[in-house]
Amino acid sequence: MKLDTLAIHAGQHPDPVSGAVMTPIVLSSTFAQEGPGNHKGYEYSRSGNPTRNTLEACAAALEGGAHGLAFASGCAATTVVLHTLPPGSHVVCGDDVYGGTFRILDKVMVPLGLRVSYVDMTDLGRLREALRPDTALVWLETPTNPMLKLADLKALCADTAARAPGARVVVDNTFATPVLQRPLELGAHAVVHSSTKYLNGHSDVVGGLLVTRDDAFAERLRFLQNALGAVPSPFDCFLVLRGLKTLPVRMERHGKSALHLARWLETLPDVARVYYPGLPSHPQHALCQQQMAHGGGMISFVLRAGPRGSVLERSRRFLAELKVFTCAESLGGVESLMELPAVMTHASVPPETRALLGIDDGLLRASVGLEAVEDLQADLARAFEVSR
Ligand SMILES: *Cc1c(COP(=O)(O)O)cnc(C)c1O
Repeated sequence: MKLDTLAIHAGQHPDPVSGAVMTPIVLSSTFAQEGPGNHKGYEYSRSGNPTRNTLEACAAALEGGAHGLAFASGCAATTVVLHTLPPGSHVVCGDDVYGGTFRILDKVMVPLGLRVSYVDMTDLGRLREALRPDTALVWLETPTNPMLKLADLKALCADTAARAPGARVVVDNTFATPVLQRPLELGAHAVVHSSTKYLNGHSDVVGGLLVTRDDAFAERLRFLQNALGAVPSPFDCFLVLRGLKTLPVRMERHGKSALHLARWLETLPDVARVYYPGLPSHPQHALCQQQMAHGGGMISFVLRAGPRGSVLERSRRFLAELKVFTCAESLGGVESLMELPAVMTHASVPPETRALLGIDDGLLRASVGLEAVEDLQADLARAFEVSR
């Protein structure tokens, strides 16, 4: 079946007890046993919960995997993946992954003995240099945040298999979602999500998901999900499951509006540069056309300083003037958000590294929501005008 159908039906059927069409929220922490050890598949909600299992099955179907696992957050999913690695393991990680991912590696897992090499995943030569015969894990995001750089998943998975046969490739698919790209079909071993973003899509849940086809990996992850207790609440699982039903429709609109705004932004004298994979000016536009259904809902662009002082001051004025866009971190919700990475999401990145990555004081990141695109454009046009 097609993704639009799977998003609404996969893993779901009317409740056998009541006939309820929508998956019930089962809040019970424990489940009656007819005799000791004789139960209906559920004992205790940390190890298994009917609402969570339904979400996991639906997510697995959307990513084209065999096993889905839901977590309390995207960071919980990351933590569980990293705990599958024996101490001393070697990891190759993208050099501009989500800040929280870098923090888990650098401040939690490296002190526990993990060895990590950071590379620019857009450059396959760099990846090849970093891979060793004993590399256990390759971790990356595509598109990246906030520069929206792309990595060639098919080539990268093939190179990894050739040079580090024991390594698993894990793709953080939060920005693209399975609607835009399905990494498992390109050779990745697992996909992780912050379901906080597009999968839930309504900015009212913090959650994580993982999908894999690898039975042995899934078994170990399932063990750790329970052992480490990194599980989401049944209520949050219900909300994400509900959000998933409209994911394909939402992504289509996010992509259409973002492309319209990106094209318009490129024509403005107030804007020095637009980063959007769906634009021909994007350095990896050809890869976008091959690997992704469209450019997605995220745009980054560089504001020019006005005559009234520094570019940072202009960025602050610009954000303060927005009325439809909300100045806030996070992304992927129905509402449009705008943020200043240098001061907000990427403030903890040292200024030298920010400069190397291109995250300067005029770089703004937009999560284009589902409002009328005319209203979004008018909001931006006004803010450009009055912030000059
Ligand atoms: C938000 C985010 C995460 C972390 O997820 P949480 O749900 O906030 O723990 C990981 N990766 C990406 C790309 C994200 O945007």
